[in-house]
Amino acid sequence: MKSYRKELFFEVPTRRAFINITDECEQALRESGVREGLMLVNAMHITASVFINDDESGLHHDYEVWLEKLAPHEPVGQYRHNGYEDNADAHMKRQVMGREVVVAITDGRLDFGTWERIFYGEFDGRRRKRVLVKIIGE
Ligand code: ZN
Repeated sequence: MKSYRKELFFEVPTRRAFINITDECEQALRESGVREGLMLVNAMHITASVFINDDESGLHHDYEVWLEKLAPHEPVGQYRHNGYEDNADAHMKRQVMGREVVVAITDGRLDFGTWERIFYGEFDGRRRKRVLVKIIGE
C-alpha cells in the first residue's frame, strides 16, 4: 500500500475566509501516484475547518451570516474562553463546520459528487496555519 503525506499552508489576511483547496488536493493526489484509495484532509488547528460543499459565493456569504448568528465574534467578553485570547467564536465555528473530510479516490481521481469541492474555513486568521493531506491506497 502507498502512503503519502503533505501539508498545505495558509496565511489569511482577514479573521475569517473560505478558500477552495480542491486544486491543491488534486495536486497532492497526482504527487502520491495513488489510483485507488482514500484521501483525508484535515485542519491542523482548532480554529479552522476543512469541509466539502458548493463553490458558490452566495452560499459562502450565507455561511458567514449563519455562523455569526450561532457564535458572534463580538462582544468577545461573552465567552469564558476569552481573556488571554479573543477567539472563542472561532473554536465554535470550527466545531460546526468540521475538522476534516475523507474523499474516495477512484481511477486516479477524487470521486466527488457533481458540485462537491473541498474548502478551508478560516475563523481566526492573520497567522500561518496548516492543513494535512494524507493519502493511502494503491
Ligand atoms: Zn482559543
